[in-house]
Amino acid sequence: MSQNRKPSNDNHLRVLLVDDQLMIHEVLRRMLAEADEFELACCSEGVRAPDVAREFAPDVILQDLVMQDADGLELLRQYKADAALRDVPVIVLSGNDKADTKAQSFALGACDYLVKFPERVELLARLRHHANAHLALRQRNAAWEELKHIAITDRLTGLYNRWYFDEVYAREWLRARRERHPLALLLLDVDYFKRYNDYYGHQAGDVCLQKVARVLKDTCRRPGDFAARYGGEEFVVVLPDTALANAVQLAQLIRAGVAALEMPHAASAVAQVVTVSVGASCMLPRDESCAEELLREADRALYRAKAEGRNRVATPPVPDGA
Ligand SMILES: [Mg+2]
Repeated sequence: MSQNRKPSNDNHLRVLLVDDQLMIHEVLRRMLAEADEFELACCSEGVRAPDVAREFAPDVILQDLVMQDADGLELLRQYKADAALRDVPVIVLSGNDKADTKAQSFALGACDYLVKFPERVELLARLRHHANAHLALRQRNAAWEELKHIAITDRLTGLYNRWYFDEVYAREWLRARRERHPLALLLLDVDYFKRYNDYYGHQAGDVCLQKVARVLKDTCRRPGDFAARYGGEEFVVVLPDTALANAVQLAQLIRAGVAALEMPHAASAVAQVVTVSVGASCMLPRDESCAEELLREADRALYRAKAEGRNRVATPPVPDGA
């Protein structure tokens, strides 16, 4: 691959030429030489074209059909089968002007067809048109990803928010039921947090919550572990395929991790530093049980942890007579 990359600029329209004749590379290079908005990469080996395209991330591909080492129509097929390349517009650039070759190219996903060699003004207009459409799509996707991130993230702590917890929890619960795996939940509460806010101020309270969130992030690291801010000074952790004993173990790590931060808490009645109480619950979801049950159990466990003196981990109380 030969490239004449200009300094990285996200607004450039990135053109990838796939053609086995170096002379064509040269013609195109000259045609684009004074059109600043384009960044051109050329690939002379058809077999490498999909790899080169994935790396270069073009906004438009100019594709030759007859190449020494590859069939251009087959390459069209490969681009369409590749999630990273599927949406990149492909303009066929061929010496062949037969109607059935054109029809085949369009059927395989080409968005345009130029016979070698078009006028410069025509080539540039087509490149601009297709590349701009792709650039707009790319920007829309990026904006969408950012919006999605904002929508599911708790702004203060950077953990996921309650809204997204509801979604993930419902999904994990159904999955656990389907796969017959236990599902565990941790519900955490910062001990005497209202007093902390009253004593140190709300800004300090915010910093405290951020530090607790950091401990959660650092502790819940298995793939599938999911930590969210449940509201106020409450946090929740979803632990797929986890037995109660392991959930309790993780809860102890979190509890110890928060205590080890040694954030002074002069207004706490349980310690001189910020601590958390944690309720842990676990269930093997069954058809007749519901997701709210497990959440209620975690809540009862948290209540018990507080009732038994805070700065501790508890499981749900066993009902009388059980
Ligand atoms: Mg050729």
